[in-house]
Amino acid sequence: MQKLSDRTAGFTDSVIRRMTRISDQYGAVNLSQGFPDFDPPKEILDRLKEVAYQDFHQYSITWGAQNFREALAAKQSGPMGHDIDPNSEIVVTCGSTEAMMAAMMTVANPGDKVIVFSPFYENYGADAILSGAEPIYVPLHPPLFKFNPEELEAAFAQNPKALILCNPSNPCGKVFTLEELTYIADLAKKYDVYVIADEVYEHIVYAPHKHTYISSLPGMWERTISCSSLSKTYSITGWRLGYIIASPEIVDVARKVHDFLTVGAAAPLQEAVIPGLKFGQEYYDELLLKYTRKRDLFLKGLDDIGLIHTVPEGAYYVMIDIRDFHYESDLEFCEVLAKEVGVGAVPGSSFFKEPVNHLIRFHFAKKDETLFHALDRLSRIKEKIPVKSRFL
Ligand code: GLN
Repeated sequence: MQKLSDRTAGFTDSVIRRMTRISDQYGAVNLSQGFPDFDPPKEILDRLKEVAYQDFHQYSITWGAQNFREALAAKQSGPMGHDIDPNSEIVVTCGSTEAMMAAMMTVANPGDKVIVFSPFYENYGADAILSGAEPIYVPLHPPLFKFNPEELEAAFAQNPKALILCNPSNPCGKVFTLEELTYIADLAKKYDVYVIADEVYEHIVYAPHKHTYISSLPGMWERTISCSSLSKTYSITGWRLGYIIASPEIVDVARKVHDFLTVGAAAPLQEAVIPGLKFGQEYYDELLLKYTRKRDLFLKGLDDIGLIHTVPEGAYYVMIDIRDFHYESDLEFCEVLAKEVGVGAVPGSSFFKEPVNHLIRFHFAKKDETLFHALDRLSRIKEKIPVKSRFL
């Protein structure tokens, strides 16, 4: 038999999705793969029921159903500071996973360099491999996850085609400040580089931090491919509804990539989510309040147990420092954690280019009772996972 493709030889499976399977295997409370265990808004579910008996069962227009694009353009135009044309500046995709892949294929030729901040959401590594791009990693230095301006400019000086920006950041919870974004934008303009922005946590930004769409900065609309999804905003990760917003020149190419990748996102689901896209500001205020409470509840629980952790500025992930347990492998630690303590986490090494293995990631997009259950189990972590002696 001939060998399968070289392109996939460097792949492992997704560690995030693998940890969900491991959590299920041990009956652990799954705080690994980030998705909610509470219901989406009722208005969306009610509409889903109606849609089942209406005429939405065939393909929508490949770049997205007309009403969906119109509702999305109306929702995003104000916050993004651009009067978005639903007919030429949106591509609806199967989740932001497809949006990011399509954006990479739209921008990069095989061999092109792409700047990626580390830690990074693990899909970006695979996106680079599949599109043939070569990542240049720029560290976000813990504990505050700031980049060093000189290190960033040195990456820009290597003639990259694009920079991938996850803001708010998964996994580290960083929200890039206006000053940082302006610095990135100035470099992008100076070196003629595109920015591919992953902004799926745009509505989960904790006070006093604020989300700025990088496309809204002067001169950035033309060179930004803004990717996002409805997964986190409306608690519908399984619906796989995402999108690209960009200039007509970029969208024209991204539509073709998307068409040949997937043809289109699910037509009935695009229709069913429209009441959500039309929610007023109160919905987003309540969503943020809900996540702020969950963050505070979960972080307090971790403090009470004595676990050292990051304080997320946005998104719904927290990283725990496991140095005190003296494990050489954070993957092994996460397996033991799922098996012995009964809580699923993602090993931090799957997000870092640097050899970091002392951090694990939990998410807190769960009902309060699920979080209390996880905290109760974690309160016995030090009995169940004895500290490894360095001298054994
Ligand atoms: N974004 C979520 C996470 O980081 C889910 C990822 C996925 O499996 N698509 O856990």
